Amino acid sequence: MSEPYSCERKYVGCFGDPVWENPTEVMMNAAFEHHDLAFHYVTMHVTAERLADAVRGVRALGFKGFNCTLPHKVAVIQHLDGLGESAEVMGAVNCVVERDGKYIGENTDGKGFVASLTPLVDPAGTRLALFGAGGAARAISVEMALAGTAHITIFNRSRARGEELVTLLRERVEVDVEFILWDGEARVPEGTDIVVNATSIGLYPDVDARLAIDSDSFTSEMLVADVIPNPPRTRLVRDAEERGCKVIDGLGMLVNQGVTGIQYWSGCDPDPKVMRAALEEVFGA
Ligand code: NDP
Repeated sequence: MSEPYSCERKYVGCFGDPVWENPTEVMMNAAFEHHDLAFHYVTMHVTAERLADAVRGVRALGFKGFNCTLPHKVAVIQHLDGLGESAEVMGAVNCVVERDGKYIGENTDGKGFVASLTPLVDPAGTRLALFGAGGAARAISVEMALAGTAHITIFNRSRARGEELVTLLRERVEVDVEFILWDGEARVPEGTDIVVNATSIGLYPDVDARLAIDSDSFTSEMLVADVIPNPPRTRLVRDAEERGCKVIDGLGMLVNQGVTGIQYWSGCDPDPKVMRAALEEVFGA
């Protein structure tokens, strides 16, 4: 913690294992400072064995909430007092909010994605091609379905994880969904409105890694989004731009999940531009 604990200030935190240079901390504190909010965000090293104690600790200290990263997104649920709608459907929490003394688990990843998308495309009635079936894909697909997406095609390397996500979507939300095993060069299905990379391909340091997608199947009517925040201008983003697509980089989702977190914790609507600028400085973008 960079400053001494103060009773005058409200605290929010981030539980991660191991502790790391957390760009979200920089982004959140930039927003708190910009809006003169008496909040401070701290990153804490929490191991799986100490998760229960850590949640008891934030209750005792009166934290307003905290973010959770891997490996705590599922395990934290048993220590909370309730879940928001999409966190309950996904079975994963990345943001905890204190409401009337109760600690409620939310999932702001998918909400952040939808918020980054809506200025460019209304999700209602769209067809989505989603690459990946891990935590990010789950968050995006559930929240897009709740926002009215009509059809989702999931492409994933491992069949088991892909089919597990398809089953979850069929059982828990209203959307047509199909699975395509991603075992070679994939083609984006005709009529797709939105293409999303929700895999870790392209994340630093593997910045030149390429998704096995035939870029001839991109059309200029499509919006192409990448979840990779570092570097923001991934190879996918550059390829899609060359094809005339609208693009959203991974900072869009990261900034907007932070915006939602700050709204939950403080009731303030933070300026996303300030938050994005803070991240761009961290990532040297
Ligand atoms: P998971 O480990 O849960 O899932 C990873 C996914 O990527 C799986 O579908 C996996 O396929 C796939 N994958 C990984 N490597 C390859 C490869 N070489 N070829 C094909 N598929 C591959 O991770 P998360 O979903 O939690 O995170 C994914 C990415 O999203 C991370 O890079 C993370 O930084 C980013 N992210 C960004 C956020 C933002 O706000 N911008 C928020 C959350 C995450 P398989 O099932 O076959 O293993």
